This record gives sequence, structure tokens and C-alpha cells, in this order.
Amino acid sequence: MDYKKLADLLYPNIDKDINYYRNLYKKRDLPKGAEVTRFAPSPTGYMHIGGFISALIDSRLAETTNGVFYMRLEDTDQKREIKNAGSIAYDALLKFCVKPSEGYRGESLPEVGEYGPYVQSKRLHIYHAFAKEMVANGNAYPCFCEKAESKQDILKRREEQLDNTDTLEDKDICRNLTLEQIEDNLNKGKKFAIRLKSQGDINKFIKVVDRIKGEREIRENTKDIILIKNNGIPVYAFAHLVDDTLMGTTTVIRGEEWYQSLSAHLELFKLCGLTPPRYAHTPVICKLDNGNKRKISKRSDPEADTRYYVKEGYPVTAVLEYLINLANSDFEEWRKQNPFLHYTEFPFSVDKIGSNNPMFDFNKLNDVSKNVFARMTAQEVYDGYLQWCDEFDKDMYNYLLTNKDYALKVLNIEREGVNPRKDICKYSEIKNYYNYMFFDLRSVYLDFTNFEHFDKCLLLKIYESYLEIFDESDTKEDWFNKIKLIAEKYNFCTNNKEYKLNPTSYLGNTATFCTALRIMITGKQQSPDLYTICVLLGKEKLKQNLQVLREKF
Ligand code: GLU
Repeated sequence: MDYKKLADLLYPNIDKDINYYRNLYKKRDLPKGAEVTRFAPSPTGYMHIGGFISALIDSRLAETTNGVFYMRLEDTDQKREIKNAGSIAYDALLKFCVKPSEGYRGESLPEVGEYGPYVQSKRLHIYHAFAKEMVANGNAYPCFCEKAESKQDILKRREEQLDNTDTLEDKDICRNLTLEQIEDNLNKGKKFAIRLKSQGDINKFIKVVDRIKGEREIRENTKDIILIKNNGIPVYAFAHLVDDTLMGTTTVIRGEEWYQSLSAHLELFKLCGLTPPRYAHTPVICKLDNGNKRKISKRSDPEADTRYYVKEGYPVTAVLEYLINLANSDFEEWRKQNPFLHYTEFPFSVDKIGSNNPMFDFNKLNDVSKNVFARMTAQEVYDGYLQWCDEFDKDMYNYLLTNKDYALKVLNIEREGVNPRKDICKYSEIKNYYNYMFFDLRSVYLDFTNFEHFDKCLLLKIYESYLEIFDESDTKEDWFNKIKLIAEKYNFCTNNKEYKLNPTSYLGNTATFCTALRIMITGKQQSPDLYTICVLLGKEKLKQNLQVLREKF
């Protein structure tokens, strides 16, 4: 067969070849060891946490090696495309501070960089040039089948093959068309797809080194996979070969689901005479469901969607640190040793990622987040909270704006010191956590189980005597001495075992006395420093609260 002639028949208007584009897209001038990575989502929905973790690894790898992290939009699956999903993905990267320095930037901003266009639908002429060269070299052929063979068709064809020749050749039927038959089809205006003419041997294996999975042997590809569909649009396998080659990607970090197609991808690179990038297939994030490990699912797990973390009010740094730790488990230790360094200073490495599927653990995320909050200044918490409220709680947003100084003081309770309090883990918790500081006690839910060991008349008496001695200008030491004195005055017995028989005896020491005060002032068993709370609330508010308690008891 005259492959050159065939290539011209199929692509009469394409006059460029692979070399032309390789010269056009210059090799990047980067320091030795610099990695070029890319985030290449298909615009088919929201940003999945698995996709995001790949993007995070991309960005860490590029940044730690002084390389480039760029974004490319892989919009070749028009059926599954969702309007605006490209912008959503780009915005999600910005929101989570994983900003690409090059490439696609959403629908409203022009792309940046010299390796574009960064949207695949705008690169069809380039894919066709590569496809034409593959045909011209006898490595690809046109397929005129209307649609991919169904399972039944395949079975039927295999039976016929066995009947006729006693051998099974699982190749596409169009593989054997003559030039005349092809010409005839073209003259009839039939549409064609381009298929790889696989030269793999099912009995042979190739060695691959995945940066996460390590060295493995995989079976050679034997499938004549589609490269260009019959609407002229390439499939992922082919488009990524073209783009990652021309855009100079050094490491492709992508989901585990692509690993099974790796042998086909490698065959494609080989037949095009190109060196493949290094690959790193990221493990799948799993969770425990009734004791069983399973993939986090788009459908049933809200945490699969990156928007969930925004809505819940996890600080971006907390999500990033949690995911970095999921990828490089020595991050936790590093964080302990370096509590004040920015996470970007952590020596992140793709080669440290384990190949086991990690488990998503909310307790761990919350812990990380509490630590992140504890490291923040009051101003940082205020700013982050204000931003969160702007989107999710307009009333609180207005409250924060009109009571900024007071809110800053509240948010600063037991913060910015040597041992900051670790309690809040999401912005969405703050309102309820400090409800007694922000709102009238009347509108605050009081959990009466907190009061059940106490005699209510006695509690009110205690509160009254507390108000008598409370002075906003006292130092903490003065305040505490006064507390000790009234606790003694009431002279409650410390025999905890008896408190049920004689509820008053529960209030036996200063600590229990403070607990009683605390639940009257905050409605909660636990709270940050009571002295600071009282000083901030002020005597007037404390007096009003006494009235509310009288009503509620
Ligand atoms: N468009 C592909 C996806 O969304 C990208 C895979 C890759 O990163 O190479 O799964």
C-alpha cells in the first residue's frame, strides 16, 4: 500500500508534519531538573478531589524544581461537556492557591504562554498533522465503521475468524481495506476515524517506571485504538501525546484510571518516534463505608467535590496541608518540627507518594484544620471568616463589618500566644461557637443537660454574687482571687460522689464553681478563657444575661 498517497487522500489540506510543529514549539529553556507539569481537566463537571490532588502535586513538583505548571483544557468529549466547567476548574485552582503560571485561564481571560492554544478544540489542525504522518508511515489507518463495534459484533467476528482461519486476530476490520476500497469510501463521502495500527505482541511485556507505582512490567498493547474520531476530534490518548510533546511536559501526573491505557500510549509515542514524558499515576482516594474500603464517589460523598470544603469553611491552607500529608506522609512530622513555616517550604516529592490508595479521614482533616486555625492571627481569622460569610452567611457578614473591633477581640481570645487554643476547625462553626459573644443570650440555645447537676436557685445566687464582685478593670489575678473567695464563701463540699444526693455538694471547688459560672455565661460546658470572655462581654451584658437566665430557668 502506498501510505503516503493514503495520507494525502485522507488529509489533502494538511501540509505540515510532526517536525514542523516540533520546531515551532521550541524546547523550553529551563534550569536542569526543572519539571514541566500540567493540569488538564475535561470540562465535564465540578472539580473532583482526586483531580485536585493531581493538580496540587503538579504545582508542588513544578515549584520545587523551578519548573512550569500550566493548565490545558481537554474539551474533546463534547457529549459530556458542561458549560463553563473549564472556568469552574480554573477558578477552583485559584481558590485553593494552586495557580498555574501558564495556559488556560477560564473563559473570560485570555490564555498566557507560548505553547498554546491550550484548549484542545483549537488544536485540531495539529492533531491532524500528527495523524497524517502516522498514516504516511503506515502506523495508522482510516476506519469507516459507523460506530465502535459492539460486544456482540466482536463475538460474531471472532467466531467467523475462528471458523475460517482457526486463528483469532483482534484487529479492526478496516485494517485490511485496500487503497481502492478506501478511495471508494471517501468518494461516497463516508466519514472516517483514524485508528492506530498496533504492532504490539500480546505475549510480550514492556518495563515501565511509574513515579508512584515504581518499576513494573505491563503487557504490550495490541489494540487498534482510535486516535481521531470520525468527527475529526482526537481522543485523549492521541491528544495528550501531541500536546504533552509540544508543550514540553516532563511528568504527566494523572489519575490511576489511565494506568490501564499506558501500554497503548507508550506504543503511540514509539510509533511517532517521540520520547514519552515520565508518568505518575496518583492513587485513588478511598473511604471506609461500613467497615469496607471503597472509592470516594461523586454521587454519594459530598467530600468528593472541592466546593464542599469551601462551603463548610475549611481554610484553604488546611485542605492543602491535609492533601499534601495524604501524598507525602512525612509532612506531619515536618509540620511538628516547623510549626511556623509555610507549607510551600516542605520538601515535597512525587517519589515519596505511596502507591496504596489513601483513606480520607475527616478526623485528621479536622485536626489539621484546628492546627491551621491555631496558627492564624485574629486578623487572619477575621478576614477569612468575613470572606466566607460574604458567600454563605450575609447576616453574619454584616455583623462582622459593623462590629469589627469587637469581633477581632473575640476571635483573639486565647490566640496569638504561646499555646493558642485548638478548637475551631471550620469558619461555619464560629458563629455557633461564639454565639454567647455575638448575640443576646435569649437567642442562644442553652443545653439544659449542662445544668442538670446543679440546683438552679443556687446557680442564680452564685451568679448574683459573681456580679457583685465582678469588675471589668480587674487583672486576671485579681479576678481569680475574688472567684476563690466566693467559692469558699459558699463552702461547697468536694465530695463528688454525693452530688446527686445533694446537688449543692457538686460545687465543691473553684474549678467546679467556674464550670457553673461558665455554663451560665456561655451556655456551654467548655469555652475559652472565662475571664477574657467576661471582660469582653462587660458587666452590663452579664447583668442582662442574669435576667435571661431567670426567665429560662
Ligand atoms: N482530561 C483528562 C482527565 O480529565 C486528563 C488526564 C491527564 O491529566 O492526562 O481525566
